[in-house]
Amino acid sequence: MKIPFVSFLPMEKELRNDIYDAFDRVFTRSWYIEGVEDEAFEQAFADYCGTEYCVGVGNGLDALMLALKALDIGEGDEVIVPSNTYIATALAVTYVGATPVFVEPDIRTYNINHSLIEAAITEKTKAIIPVHLYGQVCEMDSILEIARKHNLRVVEDCAQAHGATYKGQKVGTFGDVAGFSFYPGKNLGALGDAGAVVTNNKDIADKIRALGNYGSDYKYHHIYKGNNSRLDEMQAAFLNAKLPHLDKMNVERRRIASMYTSGINNPKIIKPYVLPDCIPVWHIYAIRCAERDALEKYLNEKGISTNKHYPIPIHLQKCYKDLNIPEGSLSIAEEISYTELSIPLYYGMTDEEVKYVIDAINMFKE
Ligand SMILES: *Cc1c(COP(=O)(O)O)cnc(C)c1O
Repeated sequence: MKIPFVSFLPMEKELRNDIYDAFDRVFTRSWYIEGVEDEAFEQAFADYCGTEYCVGVGNGLDALMLALKALDIGEGDEVIVPSNTYIATALAVTYVGATPVFVEPDIRTYNINHSLIEAAITEKTKAIIPVHLYGQVCEMDSILEIARKHNLRVVEDCAQAHGATYKGQKVGTFGDVAGFSFYPGKNLGALGDAGAVVTNNKDIADKIRALGNYGSDYKYHHIYKGNNSRLDEMQAAFLNAKLPHLDKMNVERRRIASMYTSGINNPKIIKPYVLPDCIPVWHIYAIRCAERDALEKYLNEKGISTNKHYPIPIHLQKCYKDLNIPEGSLSIAEEISYTELSIPLYYGMTDEEVKYVIDAINMFKE
């Protein structure tokens, strides 16, 4: 049996007509930037998250970067980010001229360890970016308490967690502002690059909208030296077609994840731990294994595609050499990099396929 790491086919088959209608609506209007689809999506996504405002932007990296800019974070400032995340979280900090300061994750949840945050705070620290990695929410109560105590801003990175909840509250509603990515493979994906920020703060929303539109609050009036990062009408229309199906797709991901959790019983495998207060949306089902590379090869030979999130921790990437963080100093992020394996999980994956993956993992010996 051949099992891809991710397949869009079941989703595309189900939503084909909705997607074609979306295309047709935009094409018939001949209006491609800043229009009714963007407006409708922003309203719908704000309603979905439970925030006052949503501003569509070009991608998830821009969402975080514009959020930091809107909070006046820049040169000379430090921003706390988890050491285990996709590089975009750190790049957003770098792009505004600030310095990312890495805090290690909790080895059980893979998310930032809140009890290590205070030790990383200096007088330059301006914000914390909790990343709800793999679709599981960070321990937001503790993080918000630390932020309040030290007067720090909180920018949530929700790129992998659309719809995930902590104590019944959706991600994106805890901090000052939150960034989402709609990269095609995310839980809610466009058919290209797209992103959004959500916030309850009108000033932040207005500033982000202006910053992503050449710094302009009114046509040809430029109040900031902005850039160009907008959610285009075509992608907004596709997102309008897909958003009503997000919850159903997340439920399906949870069903597959729970099959994995109850079915995988190989003592060599560490399964993901879920916080009692969190309902995850399983962007990724991350297992760990001391013999990860052998497991990967074995599964690939059985036709099961896998992935690693992420094979090289950010502090050891070439581009961040200048931070001078030597190997071994963020040992938990490194441990995750060397032992983590992501197994197939996507909407429409059949029970037979899930069982095939479970059986293969349970038969792994070496
Ligand atoms: C995907 C992702 C981003 C960046 O989103 P893009 O739309 O690809 O720019 C940021 N943070 C995390 C955690 C991500 O997974």
